[in-house]
Amino acid sequence: MDTRSSELVSKLAEDHALALAEYEYLAANLADDELREVLAEHARAAREPIYGHDVFVRGLIEFSSFCKNDCYYCGLRASNRACERYRLTQEQILSCADMGYELGFRTFVLQSGEDPHYTDDLLVGIVTALKAAHPDCAITLSVGERSRESYARLRDAGADRYLLRHETADPDHYASLHPASMSWERRMSCLRDLRELGFAVGAGFMVGSPGQTPATLAADLAFIQAFQPEMCGIGPFVPHHATPFADEPAGTLEQTLGLLSIIRLIKPNILLPATTALGTIHPMGRELGMEAGANVVMPNLSPGDVRSKYLLYDGKICTGDEAAECRRCLEMRMARCGYNVVTDRGDPRSA
Ligand code: SAM
Repeated sequence: MDTRSSELVSKLAEDHALALAEYEYLAANLADDELREVLAEHARAAREPIYGHDVFVRGLIEFSSFCKNDCYYCGLRASNRACERYRLTQEQILSCADMGYELGFRTFVLQSGEDPHYTDDLLVGIVTALKAAHPDCAITLSVGERSRESYARLRDAGADRYLLRHETADPDHYASLHPASMSWERRMSCLRDLRELGFAVGAGFMVGSPGQTPATLAADLAFIQAFQPEMCGIGPFVPHHATPFADEPAGTLEQTLGLLSIIRLIKPNILLPATTALGTIHPMGRELGMEAGANVVMPNLSPGDVRSKYLLYDGKICTGDEAAECRRCLEMRMARCGYNVVTDRGDPRSA
């Protein structure tokens, strides 16, 4: 590791902030094993007084694979005619949550493609019923871009958190990942609306998406520093065979781990998942994610018969397991590397 990297890591650990050019320098050097190890040591030290060795779990319910968007990277894109589409009814969603509750989940993440079938009334009904059935649980929505009015109704119905990855903080890069019908400005405006309406907000991006550079990554890190999201979802880009990015290389384990550590240092109490995509590119990806500073895992609660249809990328893990198996497996994996899965809503703890 060179002197500049070492100075920058110390500065980040101390100030939780760097300048754009400084983030770019670190992002350009993440192939350096020693740099990543030092970043990870600092990240664990920053996490320890807040979360100890506790890991929060979220029960992920992927309730619709329909999507009106055509993101170039995603297997659910509207143009992928081979994607098998499904929708879960309110009853099916509630029964996934009931089973999850029995298994110790106290947060449910309802995720889907952007599916116009789920009108505001329908989603409000689902959130209201879920909250009535499990008032001690947090509800996270991840259903894409909607109007401010729609977000306001969902918040009033009891949704606590919202995950909307910003995907990239560089508008030109955004335009190279999405069709012209989608706009970076709108994405950012949705994130601001969600924040103003009182949601705990999750931003995030794919690591190694086509066209990503140390400069675009620096913009992502500076955005996280400025926006201070409560959560940040990052995982490697993994190609899907039926997308325009089918032949692009996947993001790397090393870069993802280095970025997890940097994000932990930017905001020590951030909720930071070790994602399924990370577990997909490496058999120990999620465990290594914890060692790099993550503190959240999101096992799948979707019914077995639909899991293999929610394929954002090729090779997605855990598509054959049942919810209980998934939960047990992750608990064991976490315990083996010294982490303790807790039965808790998993709200951010104060730094
Ligand atoms: N429709 C909602 C939205 O746009 O936020 C939620 C579902 S969307 C499929 C969830 C996330 O999956 C996206 O924000 C994107 O970062 C990630 N994703 C999509 N395709 C991916 C791929 N090929 N590799 C890794 N992550 C991917």
